[in-house]
Amino acid sequence: MEASQAAGSLEASFRITAAPDRRGTILKYKADRGPIAYGVAVFMLRLTLWALATPLICVISVLPLAGLSVFIAPINHHHQHVNSFRAAWLNRLYDLLLALQCGVAPYGWVLHHNLGHHLHYLNQPPHESPDESHWTRADGTKMGIFAYSVHLFLHHQIDMVRVGLRHPRQFRYFLLMKLPLWGLIGVGLWLRPLETVLVFLLPALLTLFHTGWATYEHHAGLTQNDHLDASRNRDNRLYNALTGNLGLHTAHHKRPGLHWSLLPELHEKIRDQIPEEQIIKSFW
Ligand SMILES: [Zn+2]
Repeated sequence: MEASQAAGSLEASFRITAAPDRRGTILKYKADRGPIAYGVAVFMLRLTLWALATPLICVISVLPLAGLSVFIAPINHHHQHVNSFRAAWLNRLYDLLLALQCGVAPYGWVLHHNLGHHLHYLNQPPHESPDESHWTRADGTKMGIFAYSVHLFLHHQIDMVRVGLRHPRQFRYFLLMKLPLWGLIGVGLWLRPLETVLVFLLPALLTLFHTGWATYEHHAGLTQNDHLDASRNRDNRLYNALTGNLGLHTAHHKRPGLHWSLLPELHEKIRDQIPEEQIIKSFW
């Protein structure tokens, strides 16, 4: 077999097609019903606290709300790769609901993650086109998880703009969506400033920091240059149920446009090509 034919048939083996009954009429995939219900439920809880709770109850709620939103962050990640709804206006509305809970603005994931990290994650500094979520310092030494998380937390806005300048269309959407996002935050701060900070802004920032923290293990220390051995996986049923298969990370990087609900099928196909030490069975 010719090398190009072999490569072609290998690529064909990575193709996964969703059965028609897994598609929806309002949603692209019916599997998104659960994540959307969860994201909306936590948002309604926030709104109720914002409108009715005393400042003390709001203070007590900061950490629990950040904890609940930790599970909305992967939902947001998946939605930014494959929009959940068929209608664009519903996707933009859902973007806002997720952004207010996770601390990542609409199209922020698209710029930093889809068009940044996914294209560059095999390049670590001092590479000239480094990963936006890089885990090495400028001198090529490996960061610890705390340094990585702080760096990502402080630098992601700059990197979004940097990537945006190379992708003007997505950057325009990113900037346009600031209007409703900042408008909603502004109205919240005007009506109930303390509650808006305690119920929305502070928990969202904590969730954002945790999002960086949780991504460290995906690639840190892996210097390989192929999709199949450049990610660490969590092949744990509970972990993947709670994160929408985020643990099947090699499959996700192999096919970033594949809906999260189809990742187990791709993972099964490629599992024997992933180094065994890059498949972790535990939840933590
Ligand atoms: Zn991704």
